[in-house]
Amino acid sequence: MKIEEKYDVIVVGGGHAGCEAALSAARMGSRVLMLNLYLDNTAMMPCNPSIGGPAKGHLVREIDALGGEMAKAADKATHHLRWLNTSKGPAVRTLRAQCDPVKYGNHYRTAILTCLGLEVHQAMVTDLLTEKGRVVGVKIRTGQTFLSKTVIITTGTYLAAKIHIGLTSHKSGPLGMVSSSGLARSIRKTGLTVGRLRTDTTPRVLADSINWEILDRQESINEPESFSHFGEKRVHEGIICGLTRTNKETHEVIKKYFDRSPLIQGTLDSEGPRYCPSIDDKIIKFPEKDTHPIFLEPINPEGREVYLQNFSTSMCLEAQLESVRTLRGCESAHILRPGYAIEYDFVDPTQLYPWLETKTIANLFLAGQINGTSGYEEAGSQGLMAGINAALRVKDLEPLVLRRDQAYIGVLIDDLVTKGTSEPYRMLTSRCEYRLLLRHDNADTRLSPVGKEIGLLQENEWKILQKRWRHIEEETQMIKNIKISPTEKINEILRGAASSPLSEGLPAAELLKRPEISWGVFSEITSSTIEKELGERISVSAKYEGYIDRQMRQVNKFHRMEILKFPEGFDFSAVSGLSAEGEQKLSKFMPRTLGQASRISGIPPTDIQLLWVAVENKRRSKDETTDD
Ligand SMILES: Cc1cc2nc3c(=O)[nH]c(=O)nc-3n(C[C@H](O)[C@H](O)[C@H](O)COP(=O)(O)OP(=O)(O)OC[C@H]3O[C@@H](n4cnc5c(N)ncnc54)[C@H](O)[C@@H]3O)c2cc1C
Repeated sequence: MKIEEKYDVIVVGGGHAGCEAALSAARMGSRVLMLNLYLDNTAMMPCNPSIGGPAKGHLVREIDALGGEMAKAADKATHHLRWLNTSKGPAVRTLRAQCDPVKYGNHYRTAILTCLGLEVHQAMVTDLLTEKGRVVGVKIRTGQTFLSKTVIITTGTYLAAKIHIGLTSHKSGPLGMVSSSGLARSIRKTGLTVGRLRTDTTPRVLADSINWEILDRQESINEPESFSHFGEKRVHEGIICGLTRTNKETHEVIKKYFDRSPLIQGTLDSEGPRYCPSIDDKIIKFPEKDTHPIFLEPINPEGREVYLQNFSTSMCLEAQLESVRTLRGCESAHILRPGYAIEYDFVDPTQLYPWLETKTIANLFLAGQINGTSGYEEAGSQGLMAGINAALRVKDLEPLVLRRDQAYIGVLIDDLVTKGTSEPYRMLTSRCEYRLLLRHDNADTRLSPVGKEIGLLQENEWKILQKRWRHIEEETQMIKNIKISPTEKINEILRGAASSPLSEGLPAAELLKRPEISWGVFSEITSSTIEKELGERISVSAKYEGYIDRQMRQVNKFHRMEILKFPEGFDFSAVSGLSAEGEQKLSKFMPRTLGQASRISGIPPTDIQLLWVAVENKRRSKDETTDD
C-alpha cells in the first residue's frame, strides 16, 4: 500500500457489504483498497450468526450464482442446517444455517487477504474527499488521504452509533466497537439526506447455565446440503438447538420494568425493525398472545455462548436477567452479554441510482445497512452490486442493474431506490412479485450467465454449472420421451405414495406432474441416476409448468412498460395533468424507467398513463426529426 497511490476503488468498511464489494471489484480487475476500523471485525456477526431463511436464503444463493463469497463462508462455518418452509411450496423453500461467527469471519478474512488486487488497511475513515461533484478519495483519522476513482461506503450500524440499555445510553458501535462520528459528520456535510434507525439484539447466555435436558430440541437435517452451488454438500452433526417459550410470568416481569424501558419511555428517537420487534414491543403490540417461542441457538461450541432468538430487548439489565430466568430451561441462566438497542445514521436510499451510486456525488457508492436495510444477506447483496458497478465504472462500462423478475437482489435494490424506507428494511418473500420464477434452486440459471459475462464467476465454476445444466436438459428430454407401463411393481410404488395406480401407459412427464409424486418416488419408478438436487429441479419445473408460464407472460407484459426509459434530462414538471404529489415525487426521485415510476408510493395509475403518452410523444417527435 502506498499513500500517494491512486486506487480504482476504495471500500470503507469490512462488514458483509464491504467484503462482498471489495472482493467483487478486485476479482473484476480493479485495484481495490479496503479501509476498516479493525481487521479483527471482518464480516463480524453482531446479531444472530445465522445465514439464510425465507428470502434471505434466496439472496445468498443469488450472491453465489453471480460469483460472490457469502454462500461459501456460510458453508465453511455452518454447524446446524435446516430447510424452512418445506410445506409451503418450492418458491419459498429455503435453507437456514446456524454459523460459527469466528469461522465465518475467518473465511472472509482469508478471502480478502489473499485476493489479487485487493489491499486491506486498518484505519478509521473520517472524511470523504470530493471535487466538482465527484468523490476523489477519503481521509483517515491520522490525517493521511487515499485517492481513488470510486469510493464505496459500507459502514453498517457504526455511523454516529449510540447504544441503549435501560434508560442509560452511550456512544458505541455494535458489540462494543467504536462509534464512527467523523465520517457521519462528513456524510451529512455532503448534503445527502440522513436519518436515524434502530435495531435491537438479544442477551447471550452461558450454554452451561441452561438445562438442555428439559427443552424441546431442533436437530440439523441429516442429508448433506450446502448453500453454494459449488461447495461440497455436508451433514452437520453435534449441535442441537433448544426451543422454549415465554409465559405469563415472563410477560409480567417485562411489564413490571416498563418504567425503565427506553422503548416505552420514549428515549429512543428512531424506527426499529417492524418484522423483528423486541420482546417488550411484542408484549405491547400483541397483548392477546400469552406466549412467544424462543429458540436457544448455540453460537459456537468453544465459546459456550447461546443466542436467544426472538428475545431481543433494550430493557435494563435487571429486567433482562429476571425475564430470561422465567423461561423454561433458563431458570439459572447466566447472561454473558446483555441485549441492547443501537441507533445509527442511515442515508435515504432514494438518493441512489439503481446501481447504488449517489445521484448527487458521482462515483460515490453506498451499500449495506447504511442504505436503511437490516441483515447480513441484504448487506452482502448490495455490497456485491456496488463492487460490480464500481468496477464497471472504472472500465467505463454500463452499470449492471438486476430486474425484479430476475433476482431478489433486483427487488431489494429497486424497493430501496424507488420507495426508500422509514424502518430497517428486511427482505421478505412477499416483497417479490414473481416468486415462482425466483426460486432458491434456480439462482444459477437466472444469474450465473450474468456473473460470467461481467468476469466475476470463475471459469471452473462456470464449467461445473454447464455440466449440471446439460444433465438437467438430457434428463428432461428423456422424461418427455418415455412412457411408464402399468406393471404391478410400479403400481405398488404408486399406491405407497398415495397416488392412483396406472391402468394404461402414461407419459413419464405426466406422472411427474402429480403433486404427490416426489422426485424420490419418480426416480424409483424410472431408475433415474441424476443427482437428487437436479432431479428435484426438474420435478418443480414439471409440476408448476402452468404457473411458471403464466408468470413469464406477466413478466413479458410488464417488461414492455418497465424498459420504457425517460429520455436524459426528462422534465417531469413539464408533463401536463400530473397530480401534485406525483409531480413532486417524480422530480425528487427522478426514476429512469416507467416501471420505476410506477413503484414510487403515491403515484396514481393516471400519472403513469400520462407519462407513457409523454415519453411516446417525445420518442415519436424525435423519430420524425431524424427522418427529416
Ligand atoms: C444490535 C444489532 C442487531 C441486529 N439485528 C439484526 C436482526 O435482527 N436481523 C438481521 O438480519 N440483522 C440484524 N443486524 C444487522 C446485521 O448485523 C447488519 O445488517 C449487517 O451486519 C450489516 O452489514 P454491513 O456490511 O452493512 O455493516 P456492518 O456489518 O455493520 O459493517 C460495517 C463495517 O464498517 C466499518 N466501519 C464503520 N465505520 C468506519 C470508518 N469510519 N472507517 C472505516 N471502517 C468503518 C466497521 O468496522 C465494519 O467493518 C443487527 C445488527 C446489530 C448491530
